[in-house]
Amino acid sequence: MADVFWSAERDRRLRDEAIAWLKLRTNDGAVPLTRSEIKDFSFDGDTFALQATQQGIRKPRQLEAALSIQTVYRSPGQPRPYEDTMGSDGLLRYMWRGEDPEIPDNMALRAALENDLPLIWFIGVGMAPAIFQAVCPVYIVSEEPDLKRFVLAPFDEEAFLPRVAGQDTVIQETVKRYLTRETKIRLHQPVFRSTVLRAYEDRCSVCNLGHRVLLDAAHIVPDSHELGIASVVNGLALCKIHHAAFDSSILGIRPDLVVQIRPDLLEEIDGPMLQYGLKERHGQKLMMLPNRKVEQPRADLLEIAYDRFLNATPA
Ligand SMILES: [Zn+2]
Repeated sequence: MADVFWSAERDRRLRDEAIAWLKLRTNDGAVPLTRSEIKDFSFDGDTFALQATQQGIRKPRQLEAALSIQTVYRSPGQPRPYEDTMGSDGLLRYMWRGEDPEIPDNMALRAALENDLPLIWFIGVGMAPAIFQAVCPVYIVSEEPDLKRFVLAPFDEEAFLPRVAGQDTVIQETVKRYLTRETKIRLHQPVFRSTVLRAYEDRCSVCNLGHRVLLDAAHIVPDSHELGIASVVNGLALCKIHHAAFDSSILGIRPDLVVQIRPDLLEEIDGPMLQYGLKERHGQKLMMLPNRKVEQPRADLLEIAYDRFLNATPA
């Protein structure tokens, strides 16, 4: 039986409803979802699969273009089967499947490009169970056939790009910085947060507080630093107070994972937050760490952060 594609209107409505549903289910991107949670979506009265069963794209037979792409979680150090990279223009790259531009998956992605259709990107942030950060909408904005890949923007590029002449390098630089920042906010930050909080089981590493809304995924080494990688090994789940204390060198973490508090605060007498929240953590081991060794903080990164703490601390 030949496939009968849905009308452009119905296709568009499916995408819009799916994206609205995901925003609701994830509390606007704040929480990741398991495969079975993603399976709860229904459209026009029937459940409708949004996600491929494995790595790669999902193109429902009723649609001409891809609906979603999926990148599975890989532990730090493990290569991904398809390397997704950020280009110098601030946009993301998604590799073709295989070498042949005409195979169905690549055709389905090209159809999304040609028809300017929004997609969903499910990015793995943990295994067993597999959980995914849903990033949407994502648009395919161009293709680089010689490099066998597509260019993706995790936002509606049309709505974001000022209509400017392409020659002015100052404007080009500004646009590039702008796109880089938007990609960071819409894709890298939520993926980093979900990966880190999942690894620390939604608990503050310093005090074990277990309320997700009070937790941040802190960078051990700031992401402006050359080693400031957006990987779980450069992350710590910290409550808001301990995050601010860490960033301002009130609290340091020794490379052997023991908490240190700035000496002058240890002398200070004040209320319960200072007493229990800070002073009594001094000399204590971190209370929560990822179960899997490969996801634990990297020693060289802790070393850099601890040097910063010591240098900021008057002896
Ligand atoms: Zn805490």
